[in-house]
Amino acid sequence: MKAAPFAYVRPATLDDAVAELAATDGEGKVLAGGQSLVPVLAMRLGRPGTLVDINGAADLRTLTRTGSVLRIGATTRQREAERNPAAADVPLLGMALPFVGHRELRSRGTICGSLAHADPGAELPAVASCLGAVLEVTGPSGRRTVSASEFFLGAMTTGVGVDEILTAAEFPVARPGDGYGFAEIARRHGDYALAGVVTRVRSVDGAVHEAVISGFGISDRAVTRDVTELLRSVADQSDLEAALRPAAQDLARDMVDTAGDSHASQGYRRRLFAVLAGRELAQAYRRSTGGRP
Ligand SMILES: Cc1cc2nc3c(=O)[nH]c(=O)nc-3n(C[C@H](O)[C@H](O)[C@H](O)COP(=O)(O)OP(=O)(O)OC[C@H]3O[C@@H](n4cnc5c(N)ncnc54)[C@H](O)[C@@H]3O)c2cc1C
Repeated sequence: MKAAPFAYVRPATLDDAVAELAATDGEGKVLAGGQSLVPVLAMRLGRPGTLVDINGAADLRTLTRTGSVLRIGATTRQREAERNPAAADVPLLGMALPFVGHRELRSRGTICGSLAHADPGAELPAVASCLGAVLEVTGPSGRRTVSASEFFLGAMTTGVGVDEILTAAEFPVARPGDGYGFAEIARRHGDYALAGVVTRVRSVDGAVHEAVISGFGISDRAVTRDVTELLRSVADQSDLEAALRPAAQDLARDMVDTAGDSHASQGYRRRLFAVLAGRELAQAYRRSTGGRP
């Protein structure tokens, strides 16, 4: 199948891109890396009147660390973030990005495009949610910021309005005492996950200060829970994974609500999630106390 006809514009600045998008009266779509949008067009699952290609706006292709924040602009490729030494300050990006499709897709696909697309099985929305990333959105009335916890509204649905562009994502950099975990199960490497977890633990003098878990592939969006008390209650056990097992099963029952489909039943997804959750929470805790994130 071929895409339905559409108009194409490639503005040279962000201001022009916002104006072009506003001029489409809700019939326009932002084109970033095109790795999800182009298949959608080709299968005629979407028929936007105009594509606003933001790749001509040079000021959007940024990756900069300022203080404790890593800021990634709208057209920065996933592969650039994977390879840029500054991105190593956000270890979860380095852990998750190799699982986002394949290297060839990541050389075009953008970090912000993945967040804006909000596929329930995507890795980066869960990373953003777990880290409490801040997302910057620009539209005709100016710029605003949205926390990741309020950004993802459902499957393929976010807080970006039809006349707005996600201009940047800001991730907090790791500090001493932070530890992370990431794991997913997919049928083949590069496929969307059947279930995946992202964990973050902050320890102070060996004691759990904060613990957060996010899941993907398990609901209509990334799901996040504060598990500080849970981890604190078992952190002194010698076999932490075993100690976490009952709580991980409770978390799976609470967080996994994707109905069974042709890939996996709900029960199977819950079992996968429980195993990954226990393992990666324990791993993040060990890393948080071991001096290596
Ligand atoms: C075979 C295959 C396997 C894949 N596997 C995975 C996987 O395992 N995990 C995963 O996470 N992804 C996967 N993807 C998707 C891929 O990672 C995409 O790169 C990503 O989802 C979208 O990024 P993009 O820059 O290509 O966005 P585009 O395709 O350009 O856009 C996607 C959507 O987001 C909107 N959008 C994009 N950028 C912005 C912006 N700045 N502001 C507002 N709206 C915007 C577009 O209008 C469109 O609706 C896969 C894709 C393919 C083809």
